[in-house]
Amino acid sequence: MDTLEDVAQNESESGVLVKQFVSDAHGRGLLTTVPVSRGRLLLVGSPYCAVLAASERSQSCENCLIRKQHLSRCSKCRQARYCGTTCQRSDWTAHRLECPVLCAFGPSWTPPETVRLVARILTKQKTSTKKCPSEELFTIGELQSHLSDLNVEQKELIGQYIRILHKYYSKHVEFPGNEELIELFSKVNCNSFTIEDEELIHVGAALYPSLALLNHSCDFNCVVTFHGTTAEVHAVRDLLAGEELLITYIDLLYTSFDRIAQLRDLYFFTCTCKLCKTHHLDNEKLCIKQAGERPTEGEVNEMIKYSQAKIKEIREAKHVRSPEELLEMCKQCQTRQETVFAGGNVYNLHVEYQAMGAYLYLGQTKQALNLGLNLIKCYQTLYPPNSVNVAALWIKIGHLQRDLEKPIGAIDSFHKASLKH
Ligand SMILES: [Zn+2]
Ligand SMILES: [Zn+2]
Ligand SMILES: [Zn+2]
Repeated sequence: MDTLEDVAQNESESGVLVKQFVSDAHGRGLLTTVPVSRGRLLLVGSPYCAVLAASERSQSCENCLIRKQHLSRCSKCRQARYCGTTCQRSDWTAHRLECPVLCAFGPSWTPPETVRLVARILTKQKTSTKKCPSEELFTIGELQSHLSDLNVEQKELIGQYIRILHKYYSKHVEFPGNEELIELFSKVNCNSFTIEDEELIHVGAALYPSLALLNHSCDFNCVVTFHGTTAEVHAVRDLLAGEELLITYIDLLYTSFDRIAQLRDLYFFTCTCKLCKTHHLDNEKLCIKQAGERPTEGEVNEMIKYSQAKIKEIREAKHVRSPEELLEMCKQCQTRQETVFAGGNVYNLHVEYQAMGAYLYLGQTKQALNLGLNLIKCYQTLYPPNSVNVAALWIKIGHLQRDLEKPIGAIDSFHKASLKH
């Protein structure tokens, strides 16, 4: 696997180079020193540490996070699976922390991924003396913690995480003092990457310290994608020499008000991109029903709050409720939304996306495809160009069309999902 250093070296030979700088707008960041064309691979990063999502345990390798058939199991816990001895060996330092707990609790053991990442970081810091290739441009020690920005709830959550860490890992991990632990959790919270597959299904989480230098803009010019644990940063626009590489940290479906609130909450800054400054597409994203009596501002705000709470409830219910029950929850929510929102409102779309997932679980492919085709029409106008969410939905649609033996439609959808389209 290429390290960041290897790639920087290779790219510099061909004339492309990425380097760290300090910008007025974002603080420390990464820029390209030469012009870059759209689609160009700019960086490849291996993780400092990674964890496989518990939901993926039966189908993916615990070390490289790649889905494969015929994985071999850890002979002790019978839970962790591997491509082969190479992956199993390189995962042992991390897996030995969890193997005994997996033996005791089995598949029901699903601690927060943040806790598992912190346990791995502490172990790695104790056992390896060399700087990890993933820290080539930026080290774990240099990551921002935003400790002083944490609110009471966030501090309480970290407190809970520390208790979980002590409960399950104290046999194998030496813990630093509480203050240091809080700082490490805070760092991981705002700098770790969620690893998702091409359909944006959650696969795991990892830390790429050098890639944490990439700053956010809703008007992004680069995207990060994953192959197993390998992260790739591609330019999605032509870039000038000296231009900062910017990615999005959040789902850009929502209005500027929602995005700004989310970024403040999770990453402690206010986005000043041109889409946020001009409230680009906010009215379209929050479209209100036109027929009959027009809802008041108070009713709209109430419906937004209701929708946000309902969406959270539906997402959490995914692991405990049947798809039929989820579908019913989506339908009830949409009926209520229709009294205020028009079709194409982003909250409505989010619920429709959840309903599509429920139809998929039920094996009702046709219904899922119909919802997908309706969603993609709205996604294409509401998301900024080159959003991975749009590409991921095209891939989902393509798979459904393939399953329904519509090969021409499927090929077209896969083509639309590609960056070159
Ligand atoms: Zn593997
Ligand atoms: Zn094991
Ligand atoms: Zn923005």
